[in-house]
Amino acid sequence: MQHDVELLILGGGCAGLSLAMQLAQRCHHVPSTLILEQRACYENDRTWCFWGYAETPFAQQATHQWHRFKIASAGQERRIDCSVTPYFMLTADQFYRAAMATLATTPQIRLKMASTIQAEPQFHQGQWHLETQDGPVSAARIVDTRPLRPIHQDGALMWQSFYGLEIECAEPVFDSGCVDLMDFSAATSDRVAFTYVLPLSSTRALVEFTVFAVAPFTSEELALDLQGAIEERTHGHSFTVQRSEHGILPMGLTGLQAPGPSKDPSYVRVGLFAGAARPATGYAFQRIQRWAADCARAIATGGSPIEHPKEPALRGWMDALFLNVIRYQPELAPQLFLALFCGGASQRVIRFLGENGRLSDYLAIAWVLPHGPFLRQLFSLPRWP
Ligand SMILES: Cc1cc2nc3c(=O)[nH]c(=O)nc-3n(C[C@H](O)[C@H](O)[C@H](O)COP(=O)(O)OP(=O)(O)OC[C@H]3O[C@@H](n4cnc5c(N)ncnc54)[C@H](O)[C@@H]3O)c2cc1C
Repeated sequence: MQHDVELLILGGGCAGLSLAMQLAQRCHHVPSTLILEQRACYENDRTWCFWGYAETPFAQQATHQWHRFKIASAGQERRIDCSVTPYFMLTADQFYRAAMATLATTPQIRLKMASTIQAEPQFHQGQWHLETQDGPVSAARIVDTRPLRPIHQDGALMWQSFYGLEIECAEPVFDSGCVDLMDFSAATSDRVAFTYVLPLSSTRALVEFTVFAVAPFTSEELALDLQGAIEERTHGHSFTVQRSEHGILPMGLTGLQAPGPSKDPSYVRVGLFAGAARPATGYAFQRIQRWAADCARAIATGGSPIEHPKEPALRGWMDALFLNVIRYQPELAPQLFLALFCGGASQRVIRFLGENGRLSDYLAIAWVLPHGPFLRQLFSLPRWP
């Protein structure tokens, strides 16, 4: 059957472009691909951070890396050495630039900007048909990365909402060698809230206020807390705002996501709202890179595109239990995170969060956490699909 393209990618963000870059590397057979992206141009709209090694995808393009981070709560502060697996920061600018450079040398993959998909693809006569602003397109396979809109509050066990400003301060106020991973000084008993600071130099930093809660928060709802966090760190010195970022990440999807238009294996839904985000952290960048490599391999060998893999049972269960504990007892979160990173198992925790955890890491993590809240939660049957 003749079709216009072999692969149609809906949405050219992190997942769509990561897949395109992986396909471009398979020089034996790069499928004819069309990416439809609604934005007219890419902006430096986010930073992606991850723990990794020199050979981790995009570690070499990272603009910053730190070998220390700290966790603080109620007068307690712990500094953790992570030089074995530094914390890398990749700007969206760097990522989009790398993608554009790859696509510029891969004529088989075309990116169409300012192209908003309004109709759902239809499957008939063995192929997909989509009405676009430039007319109909047919494709053998579709990878749909469009985020779910509107967000349904019950779609996740918890939501991670954050709002951040990158600021340049008139005086050196930041410790550029140490990330403030979680500072719980603004925590209250009804929500898990902390400040996150990526110090880019002694005068420049991305300061974010983050909330884990059962409902998502808008940037307006987080603005006052963010202002307080910035004032606390700039000690009254003047500063200028360089840019802002806001995110709402699902933590533990509950299965309420919109299904794809068909169960046909030639159509998959992927990305942040389709299993890319790690339940316990909301982090998705590295998981997207792994999925993109696997999916490109499957497509290049003539197979169907693939979805994000299901959570391995033990890790999924541990994430679910942890989320249920902080969902129903948010006041415990500062103490739990301090225990996690400060109980002598921090390297194991980093491996666990980076998804390279071994059974011994899982056991060590279970051991360092206070057992009471977890046992209580177990007996009250965690609500998890
Ligand atoms: C501000 C921010 C910071 C983050 N930081 C981290 C981090 O530090 N570490 C980490 O691991 N994860 C992080 N994440 C989470 C995750 O890695 C990102 O959200 C990532 O961009 C998800 O990739 P995606 O492809 O699913 O979504 P996106 O990158 O958002 O891509 C979806 C694309 O679809 C397009 N689109 C939407 N609707 C349509 C339509 N109708 N027609 C055409 N195109 C459409 C959008 O314009 C967008 O380009 C962050 C998220 C945000 C928002």
